[in-house]
Amino acid sequence: MSNELTVIPAGQACSFPLSAGQRLRIETPEGGQVADFTFRGFHQALTRRINGTAERGPGHVVYVAKLGTIFYNGVPEPVLEMVANNSAATHDLVFPGCQYTNPRDPLGCRNLLSQVLGIPLAELPAACSLFMHVVDGRAFPSPARPGDHVELLAIQPATVGVTACPGRNSNAVHGPIHVRVVG
Ligand SMILES: [Zn+2]
Repeated sequence: MSNELTVIPAGQACSFPLSAGQRLRIETPEGGQVADFTFRGFHQALTRRINGTAERGPGHVVYVAKLGTIFYNGVPEPVLEMVANNSAATHDLVFPGCQYTNPRDPLGCRNLLSQVLGIPLAELPAACSLFMHVVDGRAFPSPARPGDHVELLAIQPATVGVTACPGRNSNAVHGPIHVRVVG
């Protein structure tokens, strides 16, 4: 049982190994800060497809994660489930995560996730961008309020990488992300 707080400073990332049954609580303490997460094998498109069928019937996909969304690997097997969400901001399931190639720019979420998960960029899955507000395919500054949080339950063991996104388009402010492993 660990309930220790990890503070991820703006523009940085951490990874969290979870056993089945543990939950990851991810919070924007100041509001307005996007947090990308991914794990080895995460399949963004299958996640859109399977949740779309479950929520809306055959022939549908979803574009955002919400309470009850299950995150799949490529098998597909269920790996994580969103079991709590108190934010009015959407949680994007379409964008891949920001990535910078100019060495003068700070590292983007894909660069950061590659580092903390030890997965080369060529093999790194797309992310789910928590608190990232996307409407009609366009990212807006996040309307997440201070203290907004989600919880992800590990259905099977997984190491989850989480960022405090440095992207310019989606963050209302650049602040820390707070993470706790619960259970
Ligand atoms: Zn980002």
